[in-house]
Amino acid sequence: MILKVSQESASDSMGRDRVGSLPMKKTALITGIAGQDGCYLSKLLLQSGYQVYGTTHSTDRSRLWRLEEEGHLNDIDILHLDLRDRDKIADSIKELCPTELYNLGAQSLVGKSSTHPFYTSEVNAMGALALLEAVRKYSPETRYYQASSSEIYGNTQESPQSEKTCFQPRNPYGVSKQYAHWMTKTYRTHFGLHTSCGILFNHESPYRGEDFVTGKITQGLARVSLGMLEKIEVGNVQARRDWGFSGDYVRAMHMMLQQPQGDEYVVSTGRLHTVQDLINAAAQALEMSLEWQGEELETVALYKGREVVSVNSQFFRKNETSQLVGDSSKAREVLGWEPQVSFEQLITMMVQADLRRLQSA
Ligand code: GDP
Repeated sequence: MILKVSQESASDSMGRDRVGSLPMKKTALITGIAGQDGCYLSKLLLQSGYQVYGTTHSTDRSRLWRLEEEGHLNDIDILHLDLRDRDKIADSIKELCPTELYNLGAQSLVGKSSTHPFYTSEVNAMGALALLEAVRKYSPETRYYQASSSEIYGNTQESPQSEKTCFQPRNPYGVSKQYAHWMTKTYRTHFGLHTSCGILFNHESPYRGEDFVTGKITQGLARVSLGMLEKIEVGNVQARRDWGFSGDYVRAMHMMLQQPQGDEYVVSTGRLHTVQDLINAAAQALEMSLEWQGEELETVALYKGREVVSVNSQFFRKNETSQLVGDSSKAREVLGWEPQVSFEQLITMMVQADLRRLQSA
């Protein structure tokens, strides 16, 4: 039923070392292991001595490149699992009974959620429900983490946003994440499970794809600096976000599941930057000094007199969310969590990884 890509460990049919009926190792199941958070979280859990299982909806092994590049793919048992497949979810939970379950799997592109609302809801909302229900029925001792998102705040006028801020999602992605958030909380308050939600604000890393503005800018400008591309085109350069480092944010996920009870926590840096700041930080890391000209749709950035960044209305977001900036005091006070990587360090890290990959390709 479960197709494993990596080798099973020796001890029992599920790869768990056992003494009598007690697992010696904590086990973790991570859905969406192929993404950047799955990559950093699995590394953290392996380093902490966990047996790690990860799911991916695709059978294409090349999608696991992040784990390969980070060097721990062979230490993880990979399961092929589509979060729309309730029966397989139930069978997997029944079989694995993981100590901890991290639901990171999602259709995570806000833009795509407008064109694929059913798919987004089936994966993000119903997928979370299927996992929770499987845990309730077959593994109620499992501690469950739900990847909530700052997109649930959408159109809020309150700033910064905390766990007490009302949700006002503005797109199908935000609505699907709000559903999963409330359901996760409900499985704690109504059914007594140990469930937690991390309301994560934008978090990035050298493993971010070009579908997100950070990856698009760092990869694009790295190509420009190497003479492989003339210029990049972006949307609203005045859009602002609270951007942190994925590697910092996965530590908060793990900390939540070590608490005596589940809860909800905002995870954020509390600092806003514009897309223009992002472009400037990437250019600085590439030692390119940019000169900005024009306004709104006429905005361009020049490098040595040549246009290297321009604005294209095609990349503007319909129903842009309000200024999403998180108040993570609760996570800092209760969990003792602190981000360690600054915005400038994050963008520099991304640019350096892009340059390395481009130069070795
Ligand atoms: P999101 O916050 O999950 O939607 O992450 P994104 O990285 O896709 O977008 C972050 C912000 O960058 C949003 O406010 C976008 O409107 C803005 N943005 C500006 N230009 C672009 C672009 O070219 N691509 C993307 N994806 N976002 C852009």
